[in-house]
Amino acid sequence: MANGFSVTFRTMFRKSATESYPEQPVNFQPRYRGIHVLHRDENGLEKCVGCFLCAAACPANCIYIEAAENTDSNRISAGERYASVYNIDYSRCIFCGYCVEACPTDAITHGHGFELAPYDINSLVYRKEQMLEKDALKHSLPKAVAAR
Ligand code: SF4
Ligand code: SF4
Repeated sequence: MANGFSVTFRTMFRKSATESYPEQPVNFQPRYRGIHVLHRDENGLEKCVGCFLCAAACPANCIYIEAAENTDSNRISAGERYASVYNIDYSRCIFCGYCVEACPTDAITHGHGFELAPYDINSLVYRKEQMLEKDALKHSLPKAVAAR
C-alpha cells in the first residue's frame, strides 16, 4: 500500500505530459502516417500518372482511381495519363503505407493529418482535391514559412 501510494504522490506533483489539443498543435514524429498527400512536381504538374499500382497494392481495397489521357491543351501530369478521380476511403484505410511503397513516381505520401472522426461516414471518402498539394513551391518551403 505504502509503495503504491508513494508512486501516486510522486506522480501528482510532476509536470503533466498531456498535449493540450486542440488549443496547441500536436507534435508528430516525422514518419507518422496520417492522411495522404498527393504531390506535384517542380513544374506544378501532378506527379500521379494514373497507373493504378497503389490501388493494386492496397490490402483494404480503399483506393478508387479513374485515369484519363493528357492532351497538349489539357496537361495535368507529366506522363501519358493522370488521375481524373482519386479517392481514398478512410473508413477502410489501415495506414499501412503499401500505396506509398508501390508508387513509381512518389506521387503519394502520408501527411500528418489525423482528424478523421466525423458523424457522417461518407465524409471519410477523401477526393483528390482534398489531398492534392496546393502548389509545388509551397511544399518545398520550411514548414513554418509554408503555413503562412
Ligand atoms: S495506407 Fe494502406 S490501406 Fe491505406 S490506402 Fe494506402 S495501401 Fe490502402
Ligand atoms: S499515386 Fe502513384 S501508384 Fe497510385 S496511380 Fe498515381 S502514380 Fe500510380
